[in-house]
Amino acid sequence: MARIVMKFGGTSMAGIERIRNVATRVKREVEAGNEVAVVVSAMAGETDRLVGFCREASPLHDPREYDVVVAAGEQVTSGLLAIVLQAMGLPARSWLGWQLPIHTSDAHSSARILGIETEAIRASMAKGEVAVIPGFQGLAEGNRVTTLGRGGSDTSAVAVAAALRADRCDIYTDVDGVYTTDPRIVPRARKLERVTYEEMLELASVGAKVLQTRSVELAMKEKVRVQVLSSFNDAPGTFVVDEDEFGEEAVEHQLITGVAYNRNEAKITVVEVPDRPGAVGSLFGPLAEANVNVDMIVQNIAHDTGNTDVTFTVPRTDLPKSLDVLEKARGDIGYSRLITDDNVAKISVVGVGMRSHAGVAQTMFQALGSRGINIQAITTSEIKVSVLIAEEYTELAVRVLHTAYGLDAA
Ligand code: ADP
Ligand code: ASP
Ligand code: MG
Repeated sequence: MARIVMKFGGTSMAGIERIRNVATRVKREVEAGNEVAVVVSAMAGETDRLVGFCREASPLHDPREYDVVVAAGEQVTSGLLAIVLQAMGLPARSWLGWQLPIHTSDAHSSARILGIETEAIRASMAKGEVAVIPGFQGLAEGNRVTTLGRGGSDTSAVAVAAALRADRCDIYTDVDGVYTTDPRIVPRARKLERVTYEEMLELASVGAKVLQTRSVELAMKEKVRVQVLSSFNDAPGTFVVDEDEFGEEAVEHQLITGVAYNRNEAKITVVEVPDRPGAVGSLFGPLAEANVNVDMIVQNIAHDTGNTDVTFTVPRTDLPKSLDVLEKARGDIGYSRLITDDNVAKISVVGVGMRSHAGVAQTMFQALGSRGINIQAITTSEIKVSVLIAEEYTELAVRVLHTAYGLDAA
């Protein structure tokens, strides 16, 4: 007998028919003799709808009440799945975030899980009950409902698996695994049998939304065995594993494992910043204080005037806030003007093979250059190269790079 956590995403839970399909899969695992906890997302589109209500109610809403509203989508699906499981003759009950509870920080709308109390749920599962847990939600000190950031049900599932010391955490979604790139953009993307935690972490953090970044971070830290697979067919999925599990095959590991894109950034150029020690600090300090995560940074060469231009990217949703902060700090920084552009996309290639091979970035620059795609900024890590380009070239760039690194399926 194994203890497993099964997580079902929004498309898998969209409507009663699909919830019946989910219940059939859960039943199969229970009948195979496993103890099962299920983590569910809200129905596809529901969280967006609830976010819309909050914005309509007031653009500057209380984040604590926002969490109360958006956590509701998962409450509905967890109750519905428990009802359907019971109707199929399986004992089941829902456990809302506050009932377990799932303790989180108080960073509303992007809270971190601090710990999960599992005594009650373990006792219930030991009696043969299926535990159904709404993803995405938790409870902060002071008894306030929190949510974990968009896509957060993946993180709930991995955290539940870690807390229950589950043998496996199966993430069921609308594609049958992790691919070399988003299969919706590149039909010739190939499914990966296995991907390392480290590569999955980089891929997720640069835009492959198949798993939320924090879920991969947590799986890596807690050594949770994660598998990504489809709720709509029985094809084998993708295992997320330790690099040493690749063993001998590591030698043959592809140079590049995947290509990802992200359209959620915006570019700011600060024109004519004095080229002196401390100037960059006076620019990024106030942004950090305002909780803006600056991503790519390019500092241009100094003009004859002793000034320099600094270009960087911020999350698109933080653009108004960033401009406000920079305007206020203008006296301290001493720049002449700000130029913004939210018509940008970040394209990244990721692979552990990069550690031992030179020329990876060059292949990228050449491939994009040959298609007339201009590169506006570059960042690299040990296993990743990212470039910023005009948004309209996103799909073309992803396809061109997928081919250039030999990733296309035959
Ligand atoms: P869920 O609602 O099940 O959590 P998501 O929409 O969050 O599903 O994530 C699945 C989607 O991730 C897929 O439909 C696919 O378009 C997208 N995706 C992006 N990059 C990849 C990739 N490399 N491999 C597989 N899917 C990817
Ligand atoms: N329902 C939430 C969202 O849409 C969480 C999730 O599905 O993972 O972001
Ligand atoms: Mg998701």
